[in-house]
Amino acid sequence: MTVSEHELAPPSRRGRGPSHLGTVVMKFGGTSVGDPERIKRVARQLVAARQAGARVVGVVSAMGHTTDELIGLAHEVAAHPDPRELDMLLSTGERIACALVAMAARDLGHEAISLTGSQAGIITDSVHTKAKIVEVRAARIHAALDREQIVLVAGFQGMSATRDITTLGRGGSDTTAVALATALGADACEIYTDVAGVFTADPRVVPAARKLAAVTFEEMLELAAAGARVLQLRSVEFARNHGVRLHVRSTFGGEPGTWVTEEDERVEHAIISAVTHTVEEAVYRVQGSTADVLFPALADAHVNVDTIIQTSADVIVFSAPLEDRGATAGVLDELGASWSERDDLGKVSIVGAGMKSHPGIAARTFTTLHELRIEPQFISTSPIKIAFYVPHGEVERAVQALHATFELGTGTEVRHG
Ligand code: ADP
Ligand code: ASP
Ligand code: MG
Repeated sequence: MTVSEHELAPPSRRGRGPSHLGTVVMKFGGTSVGDPERIKRVARQLVAARQAGARVVGVVSAMGHTTDELIGLAHEVAAHPDPRELDMLLSTGERIACALVAMAARDLGHEAISLTGSQAGIITDSVHTKAKIVEVRAARIHAALDREQIVLVAGFQGMSATRDITTLGRGGSDTTAVALATALGADACEIYTDVAGVFTADPRVVPAARKLAAVTFEEMLELAAAGARVLQLRSVEFARNHGVRLHVRSTFGGEPGTWVTEEDERVEHAIISAVTHTVEEAVYRVQGSTADVLFPALADAHVNVDTIIQTSADVIVFSAPLEDRGATAGVLDELGASWSERDDLGKVSIVGAGMKSHPGIAARTFTTLHELRIEPQFISTSPIKIAFYVPHGEVERAVQALHATFELGTGTEVRHG
């Protein structure tokens, strides 16, 4: 098996407080550490980066589908698993993976140490299963790096003020990586995954999708919020707020991936960057409550409300993640509202910074859907996004047709920088 040499990221042009020359955070997703061979491969990549002179922090996800399996197991023993205990359970997936990678790196003759999220100093709030990082106490990582060790940190987890183990929500290892890159003043945060970067659509749904050389934080935030999955939304927010340079790239090939950057350095702006979709949301129709009562109550229950549409004076329609279903139902019942839920709709979003200055995107979108005889529902927009819901069975057809309409597969790839 060939191992791609690690090239160090070019130095940042932005000042970000104290920085340690040549620190790199490399995050590997579940597929990338899916079996022993892949774990050894990741270890070789970390060692190559260390040999190139960098101070190396590796963040790993749980192997393969471990997290899904652990969630399944929890539901076999309890109808409503206790969130604190669920976090104890889920955090083990990432611990297994990072200990194995550390062992493999040591086997290659390099000093390496694995740390749980709490050992790495990742302090969170106490919202189990979707905790937010509030502080990183990086002294132990710095000490290990000073001893020239490769430091492996278990992604997706931290510890609350009450010393309880917390997890950061699905895809949370991305956020661990960005938080560590911020705390360590790293030159770049490299997100190694099972696709070659951020594409113009999910490459599993649109084979003609094209890898983007660069996307702006603004676009990436919309893409992640719209379900692009390749980066957890919170990791993008964190990176933007702290000026972390993010590079999304393949674990399995050495070519450059996609840079997520603040200032848009592309010579040419694509009008539309990507079409993305999600089938992980439920849409609620509520009567008998008002927005000023409903949304604070949902926020108190930590429900991440997405689209909100007030259809008439007394009807509110909103969407929220499927995983927040129980909490949403609890709030609606408690308010005494009359409500119904649909889980048969998927959301399709068209995102592009160039939309601001190019009229006619909505017209082309809805003409395309009309030709497919697809009726969009609950349309919402932002300055750089048009989103709508369609039945699950129509989602992929809509994504593929819109990708073709806007000729996203054939655009000239414009290089970053
Ligand atoms: P990891 O385990 O490495 O964190 P994820 O499964 O969380 O990987 O995210 C990568 C997946 O995101 C890809 O396999 C791909 O199917 C999906 N994806 C959805 N939309 C996009 C997009 N626009 N560009 C790239 N990948 C996307
Ligand atoms: N293992 C967690 C998940 O599957 C976290 C991650 O992969 O980032 O969501
Ligand atoms: Mg992920």
